[in-house]
Amino acid sequence: MRPEQTVTAEVLVVGAGAAGIAAAVAASRIGARVVVVERGALTGGKATAAMVGTICGIYLRGGSEARYAMNGFPREFCEQLAGRSGTHAVAGVRGLWFLPYAYDAFEELGTWLLNETGVELRTSTSIESCHAEGDRLVSAAARGRDGLTEIRAASMVDCSGTGLLAELSGAPMIRTQRYQRPAQVFCMRGVRANEESALNMAVNRAMLRADPTGHGSVSVVPGSLREGQVCLKIAFSEQVEEGADLDVLQANGQRMAGEMAALLKEGVEAFHGAEVSTVAPEVGVRTQQRAQGRYTLEQEDVMTCRKFADGVANGAWPIEFWGAERNVAMRYFGEGEHYQVPAGALRAATLSNLFLAGRTISATEQAIASARVIGTCLGTGYAAGVLAATAALRKDMDAAIESVRRAQVYI
Ligand SMILES: Cc1cc2nc3c(=O)[nH]c(=O)nc-3n(C[C@H](O)[C@H](O)[C@H](O)COP(=O)(O)OP(=O)(O)OC[C@H]3O[C@@H](n4cnc5c(N)ncnc54)[C@H](O)[C@@H]3O)c2cc1C
Repeated sequence: MRPEQTVTAEVLVVGAGAAGIAAAVAASRIGARVVVVERGALTGGKATAAMVGTICGIYLRGGSEARYAMNGFPREFCEQLAGRSGTHAVAGVRGLWFLPYAYDAFEELGTWLLNETGVELRTSTSIESCHAEGDRLVSAAARGRDGLTEIRAASMVDCSGTGLLAELSGAPMIRTQRYQRPAQVFCMRGVRANEESALNMAVNRAMLRADPTGHGSVSVVPGSLREGQVCLKIAFSEQVEEGADLDVLQANGQRMAGEMAALLKEGVEAFHGAEVSTVAPEVGVRTQQRAQGRYTLEQEDVMTCRKFADGVANGAWPIEFWGAERNVAMRYFGEGEHYQVPAGALRAATLSNLFLAGRTISATEQAIASARVIGTCLGTGYAAGVLAATAALRKDMDAAIESVRRAQVYI
C-alpha cells in the first residue's frame, strides 16, 4: 500500500522506551531533527507498560552510599526521576543499589524531555516495514491515526527491543531457541503492612504453601510498598520459545495476576480485604531477538569487566539470568567494578546507518541478561543517539565517540 504522506528527519528513533528516550534526546541535543515512532500510547516501554518499578545498573555495587556507574544523561535522568517520584537509591542484597520510581513519573519525565528537546513524538504509531538501498536504510513506513506515513531519515536508531528494523530489512539477527522467563506485575491496595521485607517473606511463605501451581514465584517489587499499596511480580515458570505467540503470554499474565491476588487475599493476613488496583498492561518479556552488530558483547566481557577503546556506556549490573531453573541465576563481578559496552555493539553488522540501543544491542543471551537493565539502556540509548546524529550530520565519528566517553563513561 502506498504511504499517504512523507516525513523527513535526520534521525528516526523506533521505540520510546528508556533507550529510545535517551537516543532521541541525545540526537536532538546535538542538532539533529528527530522523529520518534512509538507503538504504544505512552512513553517508557517496559519501564512503564510492564511496570518494572526499579532502575538497576545505574549505581556501582557495594559501598556505604550509592555511587553512579555513569554520568551525563543516565545520571541526569535518574536524578530527575528520583525528584519526581519522591524516591532515592536503595541498597539491596549483595550491595546492589537500585532506584525505585513511580510509573507515571517515568512516563511524564520521558515525554517532557522529548518535548523539551524539540523531538517529534508519534505515539500509537507502528513501524510496519522499511526500505534499504545497498547498505543503507532509506525509509520506514509507520501506521498511525492518520494512516500510513513514509519516514525518510539519514540515520535510524532501533530501540524497539526486538531488532525490528534489522529484521524487517533482512539483516542478520541474534536468535536463541528460548529467551529468559518473563514476569507479570500487578499492584494491590488496602494492604496492611509497613515493612516490605517482612511482607515479602509472608508472600513467599504463602506461595510455598500454595505451590505447586506451576506458575512460578511471586515477590514484592522492591521499594513499591507505599501508603497501603504494593506491587508484586509473578515470575513465569517457562522460558519464552522463539516465535512464541506473545498474545497468549499476555493473556496468561493477566489471568495469573487474578489468581495470585486471590491466593494472597486468602493466605496472607496483610492482604485480607485488599484489592487489585492495577495489572501491568504488558507482560514483562525480558529478552527477544536482537540485531547482529559489528561487535557482539559476550559473557566474558561482562564478567571480566572489559574496557574498550570505543566503550560508550558502562554496565554495572550482574548477569541476572532467568533460565529454566526455578531461581534466577546471578553472576556477580567485583564490587565497585563495571564493564563497558563498545560502540561496535550499537552498530548493525551490515547496515551502515542503523544504530542499536537498549535491550536490542548486539549481545549474547548471557551478556544481555546484564546489559538490558534500565540504567544501561539509558547509557546505550544516549550513545546510539549521538552516533546516529553524528552520521546523519556527517560529523567526525571518532570525535563523537570521545565526546560520549567524556559525557558518561569516565567516572
Ligand atoms: C519482568 C521484568 C522485570 C525487569 N526488572 C527490571 C528492574 O527491576 N530494573 C531494571 O533496570 N530493569 C529491569 N528490567 C529490564 C528493563 O525493564 C528493560 O530491559 C528496559 O526497560 C528495556 O528498555 P528499551 O528501551 O530497550 O526497550 P523497551 O522498553 O522494550 O521499549 C521498546 C519500545 O519500542 C516500541 N515498539 C516495539 N515495536 C514497535 C513498532 N513496530 N513500532 C513502533 N514502536 C515499537 C514498544 O512499544 C516499546 O515502547 C525488567 C524487565 C522485565 C521484562
